[in-house]
Amino acid sequence: MTVGSEASTHGRPKLLIVEDDTTIAANLHQFLELRGFVVDLAHDGPAAVARISAESYDLIVLDLGLPRADGLQVLDILRRHLIRATPVLVLTARSELDSRLEAFELGADDYLTKPFALPEVEARLLALHRRSTGAVVPTESRAGPLRIDRRSRQVHVGDTLVRLMPRSMLMLERLLRDPGAVVSRRELEDLLWPDGDVPADAMRGQVYLLRRTLSEAGFDGIETVHGVGFRLRI
Ligand code: CA
Repeated sequence: MTVGSEASTHGRPKLLIVEDDTTIAANLHQFLELRGFVVDLAHDGPAAVARISAESYDLIVLDLGLPRADGLQVLDILRRHLIRATPVLVLTARSELDSRLEAFELGADDYLTKPFALPEVEARLLALHRRSTGAVVPTESRAGPLRIDRRSRQVHVGDTLVRLMPRSMLMLERLLRDPGAVVSRRELEDLLWPDGDVPADAMRGQVYLLRRTLSEAGFDGIETVHGVGFRLRI
């Protein structure tokens, strides 16, 4: 699925992640996209500057240690040259205290020290976004009687709290991001088994488990689209 700038008009915050460590960048990208952000990536200073010059973002995650132009330079260009107030969450290494202080002077809004937990990145971004827009970010996704609270990650069918295994949760969150749309088997496999090693019949087993758990709570809305994938009936 291609997500363009139009997507942010559906209430999903548009986020730029500036990070040269490809593993950290990929983890942030995957996690935050799953949590409903529209995500762009830049891997060095010049690429970040090109992005922020050409596009308008709701939020920026900015690593300070970057090749070719460091995060402080990117921040300086954002605030002083482009005069943008976009909230910036800075990522720093433990040894970068001076840079962190300098980042605040240049207009950073918040920081996290590596290593960090992905849910904390999301919580801080949502807080920055709320503060900057004065708007309440939707924290709940729904399809009929089914709903997920994005912050607590609790799933309910009607009034019944449903406990899901981690892979069931990932699958349901993905399906619930686009209720009614078909999500391909391939995309779900990549999401559930990111190392690419998908055990035989594992997908079928996961879908069975998710369906059975939701069905016990009274929800039977996960459809198989044969030869393509799965969707949530709305
Ligand atoms: Ca770095």
